[in-house]
Amino acid sequence: MAKLVPENHPALHTIAEVVTPEEIANGELTKLLKAMRTALRSYQVDGFIPVAIAAPQIGVSKRVFLLDDQSDDRNPLPALVAVNPEIVKYSRKTQLLGEGCLSVPELYGEVRRHTNVTLRALDADGTPYERGAGGLLAQIIQHEYDHLDGILFTDRAKRVWSIAELKDSAKQTG
Ligand code: ZN
Repeated sequence: MAKLVPENHPALHTIAEVVTPEEIANGELTKLLKAMRTALRSYQVDGFIPVAIAAPQIGVSKRVFLLDDQSDDRNPLPALVAVNPEIVKYSRKTQLLGEGCLSVPELYGEVRRHTNVTLRALDADGTPYERGAGGLLAQIIQHEYDHLDGILFTDRAKRVWSIAELKDSAKQTG
């Protein structure tokens, strides 16, 4: 079964490789997507249900990420597969947002992200698409895209806390 690799794994710190047309045609991509989905669904971070994963997080240095929102949120995030993605447009407006990562389970931080982005990618069948995204979806796309360039949110964060620190401060404020 596909497992998350630890934070010091080289795949999490390398620029991932483009998926080739052969890998789409011969089923390699389908296998990879399945492994990523399985891994995503088998982890929780401190009660949070993770909603997205990038291939490097299971040790596969390929330019693929997916969103698969299994939370019982009334407004689930759209299911999304992004193969060889590019963010072709960033809004000028940015926001400082709270962020965590399955690959860095002990830390939480504040990261500046663009409020809106335009994503261009191939879907699971290799068909190109382009879509805009705002808010949480835009934040997740930027976070996952970073994984494909070997960047973790802790590399970008303005401030970082440990989960334990957060719990302490939550207790203090009641
Ligand atoms: Zn992450």
